[in-house]
Amino acid sequence: MLPAVFVMPNQPIDLRSDTVTRPSPAMRQAMAAADVGDDWYGEDPTINLLQAEVAALLGKEDSLFTPSGTMANQLALRVHCRHGDDVLLSEESHIQFHENGAAGALAGVQLTVIGAGGLFDAAQVRAAVKPENGLYPPTRLLCLENTHNRCGGKVWPLQQLREVCEAARGLGLRLHLDGARLWNAAAAHKVPLRELAAPFDTVSVSLSKGLGAPAGSLLCGEREALRRARRFRQMYGGGMRQAGVLAAAGRFALQHNQGRLLQDHENAALLGARIAEVPGVRLVAPVETNIVVFDVDPPAPDAAALVAALRARGVLVNAFGPRRLRAVTHLDVDRAACEQAASVLRDVLS
Ligand SMILES: *Cc1c(COP(=O)(O)O)cnc(C)c1O
Repeated sequence: MLPAVFVMPNQPIDLRSDTVTRPSPAMRQAMAAADVGDDWYGEDPTINLLQAEVAALLGKEDSLFTPSGTMANQLALRVHCRHGDDVLLSEESHIQFHENGAAGALAGVQLTVIGAGGLFDAAQVRAAVKPENGLYPPTRLLCLENTHNRCGGKVWPLQQLREVCEAARGLGLRLHLDGARLWNAAAAHKVPLRELAAPFDTVSVSLSKGLGAPAGSLLCGEREALRRARRFRQMYGGGMRQAGVLAAAGRFALQHNQGRLLQDHENAALLGARIAEVPGVRLVAPVETNIVVFDVDPPAPDAAALVAALRARGVLVNAFGPRRLRAVTHLDVDRAACEQAASVLRDVLS
């Protein structure tokens, strides 16, 4: 017997993140039926399939299944850099904000923030690369985040992305893409994933965000880089055994949930449009994907008070700063739920 999906009565509208989705009965069925083996020996057929499929989707030689996107990013830092190296990345990056200092603690690198609003240009990359004269840390790696989470789910304009990467390549930098939501970027701009991934040495992608799997990310790239990443995955405690049950959820998510991401984008656009009409509310960026980040000005309550007031009315969002909040759409909230959430927010603010 498969477990029934647990649905609470009066379930809140949960817009805290696209990670809150629960596996559907069909996904659970795929997990239960997964063919598995010990992945340390490379013998889990479902993981092997997933790794091959995702590598092909992204146009990379190989890929490596990891428990989380944080680990995939950290493996990339570790593979590309030596201790004491300098890494360039955008404002408000996940690598800087949400990985608990792992860049310093595990990879031993220092982070230099460039650009504004999650993006930067080629001139800013050139200006940030430090001279190699024995006084500065060697600038080794450039990281991009696409879509950019904390900057409102922003998608990198393709031309700008190419120019930035070309400049970085010319300066001898390695290139990593934090593509936890690359699926959303590809859907929004109607560009194949492999095109968005092409300029990068390594790319991390997440199965547990908008795609709705319960866990799992992949680091994709050249075979040699991934051979080294595999060693560090073991060192970081991320080697798993019969994790094909998770890989099966990921394969199911890719097959069934990739095609519906534009629905989330439409719902986020609706939510963004409704809440931007409320006096004192400002979107930090136009809504391009499934993320709405917005600031609330006085005399409206601050973010913490607003989160509590919304929670009392059955709407969950996250505070991102003293006066900044984030709402994220996903496959467990439909259009009616987003309309409901927007009207609750307007009530609470007025
Ligand atoms: C969620 C996320 C990750 C990975 O997060 P995990 O929770 O560790 O899987 C990485 N980068 C970005 C931009 C994210 O939003």
